[in-house]
Amino acid sequence: LFVEADLPGDGTLAATPAQAHYLGAVLRRSPGDPVLLFNGRDGEWQAEVAALRKDRGSFALGRRTRAQAPEPPLRLLLAAVKRDAMDLVAEKATELGATLIQPVLTRRTVTDRVNTGRLAAIAREAAEQCRRLGVPEVREAAPLHAVLDAWDGAPLLFGDETGHGTTGHGATGHGTTGHGAAGGGEGEGAAALAGAVAGLAPPLAWLVGPEGGFDPAELADLRRRPFVRAVTLGPRILRAETAAIAGLAVMQAVAGD
Ligand code: SAM
Repeated sequence: LFVEADLPGDGTLAATPAQAHYLGAVLRRSPGDPVLLFNGRDGEWQAEVAALRKDRGSFALGRRTRAQAPEPPLRLLLAAVKRDAMDLVAEKATELGATLIQPVLTRRTVTDRVNTGRLAAIAREAAEQCRRLGVPEVREAAPLHAVLDAWDGAPLLFGDETGHGTTGHGATGHGTTGHGAAGGGEGEGAAALAGAVAGLAPPLAWLVGPEGGFDPAELADLRRRPFVRAVTLGPRILRAETAAIAGLAVMQAVAGD
């Protein structure tokens, strides 16, 4: 279970009302039963339910069962999409080891409200479920150009479904140069993601556009940033959430832990 408090603290922790309800009504736990606690910073701790009533409870802490290991920084930048898709991505990105989830606002973003508190809660639950001791940081949504302006220079790969290269071509429409131009042989074709990640070390970032894609001005802006590289996930146009999850899976497999 995720707890906010420092661990071990003074050895006793209060459960949140939601945890007390979950432990009692859903998991049918009683005082004396074991639970594992983590807070995203101090490792995993064995604990025991000390008291449990309807929506109140406490834990008595035992020994530490796992140390907090550093996680390779894998950042996800995702154009805000509809709520269900954001929820899905928050869960799957956490399972796949993303350490940062940054919603970005683009010209073709249709929603301008992203409930980041909700996404953070989903990420915490996903971390509990997959026994991950780290929880990704969920940042407030910000305009794409602002995120790029503030970038620390770590390699940022973006999903380019047009298969165009990182330079040249000007127009960003579809279909004129063919898809899946992995490497392209001309030095400017979009590389396939796994190939682009090989040889890079975290921190790494994966940026996915909105359902309508990035607009030409955004693509031009992305291409002139030295830390940005366009990559393809193949010839099919994926939903934004699929592209987010698939890209993270590749990054995790090639450069993760
Ligand atoms: N603009 C496109 C259109 O309307 O035909 C669709 C954009 S797609 C639904 C949403 C985002 O997913 C894109 O901006 C891109 O970042 C990513 N994406 C989708 N398919 C991809 C692929 N085959 N390779 C790389 N990225 C992809």
